[in-house]
Amino acid sequence: MLVIGSHVSFGSEQILGSLKEALSYNANTFMFYTGAPTNTIRKDIDENKTNEARKLMEEKGIDINNVICHAPYIVNLGNNSDPDKYKFSIDFIRNELKRCDLMGITKMVLHPGNATGGLSKEDAINNIVNAINEVLDGSTKCVILVETMAGKGSECGSTIDEIAMIVNGVHKQDQIGICLDTCHLNDGGYDMNEFDSYLDELGKKVSLDKIGCIHVNDSKNELGSHKDRHANIGKGTIGFNTLCNVIYNERLKDIPKILETPYIGDSEDDKERLYPPYKYEIEMLRNKKYEEDYFNKIWDEYKHN
Ligand code: FE
Ligand code: FE
Ligand code: ZN
Repeated sequence: MLVIGSHVSFGSEQILGSLKEALSYNANTFMFYTGAPTNTIRKDIDENKTNEARKLMEEKGIDINNVICHAPYIVNLGNNSDPDKYKFSIDFIRNELKRCDLMGITKMVLHPGNATGGLSKEDAINNIVNAINEVLDGSTKCVILVETMAGKGSECGSTIDEIAMIVNGVHKQDQIGICLDTCHLNDGGYDMNEFDSYLDELGKKVSLDKIGCIHVNDSKNELGSHKDRHANIGKGTIGFNTLCNVIYNERLKDIPKILETPYIGDSEDDKERLYPPYKYEIEMLRNKKYEEDYFNKIWDEYKHN
């Protein structure tokens, strides 16, 4: 069975709220940030809400091992020029893993980091590996999945070699893995029409067993653009059929697929993003059938109610 869901919010009800939102999209998994993705302010995990969520997941047949947490993307493990900031980032990621452990979450996605401040990619990658090794001090269980990046600016992790350097450098091999992002791969220069050869190379240089999550996004930009702007399914340069082939690839069969596509606006070119597309995108991918006018269905459901 296809395990598919989307990014959802983590409001006052925490993971229980995330779960309810996911269920409203008919998803059988989901991904959340434990707070704003752009800051490191975090509340304590609410045990009651967590227990309630775990019960409801069991009722609905959602396996918690398929549920994903995403670390905030402002944390940069690539730059150690400010020792206090570097230490703060390491402690923050370790605490994020502890929060995951408290909720029973087994996988946390992490953007590896950036080679800022004139650092070389190689130095930044060294800093990332050292930081992850410090994070994984034996006090946590949750696995870190480093995400494949688009290579925007000084982002590390946009090539198989960079991902391999990071993953293979981590001592605790049972606590490190990979999250593939189709938009990032496309923007990073990997043609999703040649996905099997991508997997072949990744398998050789790391191991396909390391893949713990797939982010399913179309892209607003061309192959190799290094931009990172997600498009709705079928509305970008990758296209519906190619994305379908990726998510139904036999080698990725049981791996959770997460949509991070943008909310849609009041009209096709509206800047304001108001309505979640996930229920319809999930349905199309489950049916392997693209419906050209699915934005109209979304507008019918949300805008007119
Ligand atoms: Fe991400
Ligand atoms: Fe992603
Ligand atoms: Zn992205």
